[in-house]
Amino acid sequence: MERALINIDYTYDFVAENGKLTCGEPGQALEKYIVSLTKEFIDSNEFVVFAIDAHEEADIYHPETQLFPPHNINGTPGKALYGELKNVFDRNKEKSNVYYFDKTRYSAFAGTDLELKLRERNIQEIHLVGVCTDICILHTAVDAYNKGFSIVIHKQGVASFNQAGHDWALGHFEKTLGAKVK
Ligand code: ZN
Repeated sequence: MERALINIDYTYDFVAENGKLTCGEPGQALEKYIVSLTKEFIDSNEFVVFAIDAHEEADIYHPETQLFPPHNINGTPGKALYGELKNVFDRNKEKSNVYYFDKTRYSAFAGTDLELKLRERNIQEIHLVGVCTDICILHTAVDAYNKGFSIVIHKQGVASFNQAGHDWALGHFEKTLGAKVK
């Protein structure tokens, strides 16, 4: 079965101590696992996606403006990938199996060409890592479910600033979306 790894929002603003919308320590604790899984997929020539939140400052038309403090603003350091993942990406970004794109909604499928890229490559199974478990990971997983993809959630590769939301989402992935949570 063809697989893809989808890295979601593992950026400075969502992970670093002084990030604008940070998951804090639970987010920082994922770094080693996400880095090693990302390398494994890249080295085995499987498709690796970086779907990264991108906002404009004070965008009055964007629903998140009312809901969250400004984060992942285009052109700011907060939007950069966090820690060693940035180095891994920088070393591999020219490879044909590595694909970075901006997303503007929680789901990596919303308003992007992710589905086309996956279908072209005959990918049936998507692996999700990043943050936040109960927001962008969840919404991406729901869309993937509706589109008929098999889903694998890496428990050591997801976190949230809301621990109760994180725990709820892990159960939802398994029981409602039929995902493999490992
Ligand atoms: Zn956002």
